[in-house]
Amino acid sequence: MPVKIALVGRPNVGKSTLFNRLVGKRLALVDDTPGVTRDRREGDAKLGDLTFIAVDTPGLEEAPEAALEGRMRKQTDAAVAEAAACLFLIDARAGVTPLDQTFASLLRASGKPVILLANKAEGNAGDAGFYDAYALGVGDPIAISAEHGEGMAELYNALDPFLAELDDEEEIDEEQEWDNPLKPLRVAIIGRPNAGKSTLVNRLIGENRLLTGPEAGITRDSISVEWKWRGRDRDWPVKLFDTAGMRKKAKVQSKLEKLSVADALRAIKFTEVAVLLLDAENPFDKQDLQLADLALREGRALVIAVNKWDLIEDKDQKMRELKETAGRLLPQAPDIPITPFSALTGAGVNRLMPAVIKVYIDWNARVKTPELNDWLQEAVHRHAPPAVSGQRIKLRYIAQTKTRPPTFVAQCTRADELPESYRRYLINGIRDAFDIKAVPIRLILKKPA
Ligand code: GDP
Ligand code: GDP
Repeated sequence: MPVKIALVGRPNVGKSTLFNRLVGKRLALVDDTPGVTRDRREGDAKLGDLTFIAVDTPGLEEAPEAALEGRMRKQTDAAVAEAAACLFLIDARAGVTPLDQTFASLLRASGKPVILLANKAEGNAGDAGFYDAYALGVGDPIAISAEHGEGMAELYNALDPFLAELDDEEEIDEEQEWDNPLKPLRVAIIGRPNAGKSTLVNRLIGENRLLTGPEAGITRDSISVEWKWRGRDRDWPVKLFDTAGMRKKAKVQSKLEKLSVADALRAIKFTEVAVLLLDAENPFDKQDLQLADLALREGRALVIAVNKWDLIEDKDQKMRELKETAGRLLPQAPDIPITPFSALTGAGVNRLMPAVIKVYIDWNARVKTPELNDWLQEAVHRHAPPAVSGQRIKLRYIAQTKTRPPTFVAQCTRADELPESYRRYLINGIRDAFDIKAVPIRLILKKPA
């Protein structure tokens, strides 16, 4: 979805002229008479290779403060609320007026990023107004001429960071994967030898197509099995990749099986959700952690499955231990689901697929830019970023640029100096605010252009 950019300012500063320049069709009515009322209009805008939706706010008469509070506020607020950033225009020839100041405080209160444009600046006619504009307290002005197309390169640079969204191609891909009920969800069962992977796959599929035991390598002819899981709301076709199967197919089973990281990595590459199968009697050993780390680093959604639960006496105590250990050893994904069961008896195996679907949904989570920025504003307000060498680090804008796993880009001054603890604060904040609990979240900090 293209991002919306609102054009805001008092009447006659050149909003329509700029809108027309960006949208390219002469949709908007341009009139010399102040106060020509228009509806809020939107158009597909283009500036170089940037695309966005330009939203022109209505012309508003030079009204006394009281009237300003009403109609004008509503319309402008609505446009601003939906926008990722606002282009705030003033007439550089006329200088800063009280109405400009009213708009400036309205925009400051909105918390939205503001790009201040001193319009009608062709031929230096707007120099005085340009310098006045600093006093509005919404950042440095950019001199443009909407009518003559001057300053568009500067406008491009200012807008660029706010348009870091998914590109269309990627989005279409995801739509297909997500919505296509025929496209199977790819799940890999990874784990140490003897964790019970083959037993689990058999159990899930509900038939003895894959045999465990010494002759497994001979009977298996496929490293993946497709089957359908009947969920509460819909059927989910699932393609299971079994690393044990891969290994067994690759070569005749050796007596002393070692974990093959290469096998696991191959399975992880194929997969969307990785199920790390632990042996309840000996969970989280070095190899388990190595596999978990591998899956998370590859950006996969992860479920921790604890097998051989039938062998555990104090199940409550064991579960507490497992949760504590997972939280400590895998801090990248604090709420990773842990599902205990016995693949041998079948008890509890029905917990696994709902957990897989849950992480899959989180992995595909998408947060709208305005909601993210509302959250950022609040987060920064509640707990301001620290100052380094006397200057406060500023976080201005955030957008989700990818899903699978959810990846966010935030604009941050002195990005390299932001302490890790503050980054964690932000990541945890995103988790809580948007309920993306089970998967790693990536946060990239970018210096403003
Ligand atoms: P709006 O009310 O903010 O939408 O302003 P308009 O786009 O209708 O423009 C108001 C007037 O300013 C019109 O006469 C435009 O031709 C003029 N105008 C717009 N941009 C420029 C500019 O860059 N330079 C000059 N000199 N005039 C401009
Ligand atoms: P893989 O190497 O991970 O594929 O492990 P297998 O599925 O071949 O299982 C290894 C051994 O663990 C076999 O002897 C299984 O019978 C046993 N096993 C698998 N699941 C369970 C379980 O839930 N409980 C118990 N007690 N044993 C299990």
